[in-house]
Amino acid sequence: MNPVTEVPRRLTILGSTGSIGTNTLDVIAQLGGRDSFEILALTGNGNIDLLAAQARATGARLAVTADESQYIALKDALSGSGVDVAAGRTGLDEAARLDADWVMAAIVGTAGLAPTLAAAARGADIALANKECLVSAGDLFVQAVRDGGGRLIPVDSEHSAIFQCLDDHQRHALERIVLTASGGPFRAFSREQMAGVTAHTARTHPNWSMGLKISIGSASMFNKALEMIEAKHLFDVRPDQIEVIVHPQSIVHSMVGYTDGSVIAQLGSPDMRTAIGYALTYPQRPSLNVERLDFAKLARLDFEAPDEVRFPALRLARTALTRGGLQGAVMNAAEETAFTAFVEERIGFLDMADIVETVMDGLCGIGAASTIADVFAADDEARRQALDAIATRRSA
Ligand code: NDP
Repeated sequence: MNPVTEVPRRLTILGSTGSIGTNTLDVIAQLGGRDSFEILALTGNGNIDLLAAQARATGARLAVTADESQYIALKDALSGSGVDVAAGRTGLDEAARLDADWVMAAIVGTAGLAPTLAAAARGADIALANKECLVSAGDLFVQAVRDGGGRLIPVDSEHSAIFQCLDDHQRHALERIVLTASGGPFRAFSREQMAGVTAHTARTHPNWSMGLKISIGSASMFNKALEMIEAKHLFDVRPDQIEVIVHPQSIVHSMVGYTDGSVIAQLGSPDMRTAIGYALTYPQRPSLNVERLDFAKLARLDFEAPDEVRFPALRLARTALTRGGLQGAVMNAAEETAFTAFVEERIGFLDMADIVETVMDGLCGIGAASTIADVFAADDEARRQALDAIATRRSA
């Protein structure tokens, strides 16, 4: 029996082999593992050995690799285990549709949107780590969760913090939400210094241990930009109610300000397991083996205004929020495309923001989405224009 919720819960982890996925499995193990939870499906992409080991260890019903070319390898790795195996988009869909009552959405990028929507539509509680669901599909995604009847529980540490600080009875008195940002490894760099950085240096985060995409997004502050858009949809606030403050220690995970001047903050060690545990046991709090804050040792907490000249991603997020409609989807798709080009050393670090801005401006007249198909169409067009912008830059 689960020590926290007192009911066995059936779980699926989309993206179990990533940073969030492995931390989720650690939290599950801390809370009783197979005695407390039944794992229905685990999904990964290229890390077949880890996926197979996770599936065996947890006794998962189904293991899915998103990469169809890895199907045989996964099948071989799980032979004799009793775990079903599937691959590709249909495999992810199958995983999402198993009747788990809690689904961790931790696939990186837009690839996470379709399976998370499928899980939401059938009424699962969605623990949302994947940012792209909200950034790209926005209100359509929120509505899909609402229509399905499940709950949407944020996992991103900033949004989890705000979720924890928000008092539903005081929503009328909510004035602002304040997202904290570490500033990443280049917080003190000039633009000239940033122009020469590589993906290897950009992925080394000072406080958090995370996947490649989010680490580089932290360095460019595109991660914070996506979080601003995510926050708008999650908490139904106006763009002018969303603030960003740089807080290099990553101890204050975010804050909520009320009309009486009060600010409520959530603090903790930079460890995603706290937010994951909260999402897993909400509205309870689990007992977790994570590092406790020692305030005497910490001694100080620093805050500084973000520099939107050195980090234009924040300005671009405000533009996307002001324009509304599908600009979030456009920004996200252009950023994913530019990120890949940067990692593959086809463009420089500062080129990423230029390319995103070019694509956003090119598609500034794009309207709102009526259906998810509109989101995918905007995503496709933004990727196409981003590739054009990258090619133009390389030939210049
Ligand atoms: P990782 O890169 O560590 O893991 C990504 C997961 O998605 C892996 O399981 C990976 O499989 C899988 N995956 C990769 N490509 C595809 C694809 N095309 N189709 C299906 N699955 C795929 O990412 P993180 O765990 O860091 O982040 C996951 C999400 O959570 C992101 O959206 C991120 O922004 C968000 N997030 C992460 C935080 C963190 O601390 N890491 C904090 C807050 C939010 P494989 O490994 O087998 O290739």
